[in-house]
Amino acid sequence: MGDWHFQRSGLLCVVSGPSGSGKTTLCRRFSERDDEAVYAVSATTRAPRDGERNGIDYHFLDRSEFEAGIARGDFLEYAEVHGRLYGTLKREVLGHLEAGRDVLMDIDVQGAALVRSSTDPAIRAALVDIFILLPGESEIVNRVRARGTETEEQLAVRLQTAREESRHWAEYRYTFISADRETDFATFRSIIAGERCRSSRLRRNDNDATVPGE
Ligand code: 5GP
Repeated sequence: MGDWHFQRSGLLCVVSGPSGSGKTTLCRRFSERDDEAVYAVSATTRAPRDGERNGIDYHFLDRSEFEAGIARGDFLEYAEVHGRLYGTLKREVLGHLEAGRDVLMDIDVQGAALVRSSTDPAIRAALVDIFILLPGESEIVNRVRARGTETEEQLAVRLQTAREESRHWAEYRYTFISADRETDFATFRSIIAGERCRSSRLRRNDNDATVPGE
């Protein structure tokens, strides 16, 4: 008697959006509730904010450690954002994809462009890029202020970055306009649910050559 099972390849979900779009919260919340998804913890040279933990929120590195990682080829992508280096370590991504798990990455538009231009067939097949837009500039200001973690000077820099980043939405396969936390989560979940069902992601493994119905 033949037997077989289906195996799905993992998604590489690249999520970008301006400060305050809630992209980090969405990625984390989804990966905490879904056994098939993991959040890729980035490395950065920026200082930890209050309450941020090394290895959980970010791998906090000094510039020389980060640059040594670049030289070793440890990074899938990296970029300079607000004068600091941010990057995704290959070890946070590749093994999970091979094991059929979905990896969620919250990265800026430069990093997303680098992942999109990858020639690695596994990355190209896995990639699902999502942009979260805010309904207007005043909403960006409100959300960054509400977080209360930025000085006025940092706020001005983040606003400028947000304006520039928001121009890139059309490069992403999916874009949605942020509404409220629950609506955004439902939208995000439905994008991933649809992507998981693409026929191209399924592979049938036959344990026996004589499969019924063939
Ligand atoms: P924050 O300092 O607010 O945590 O992040 C600032 C920006 O850096 C955000 O746009 C965030 O998406 C981006 N970022 C975080 N991790 C990475 C990463 O690994 N690579 C890239 N390219 N950008 C990142």
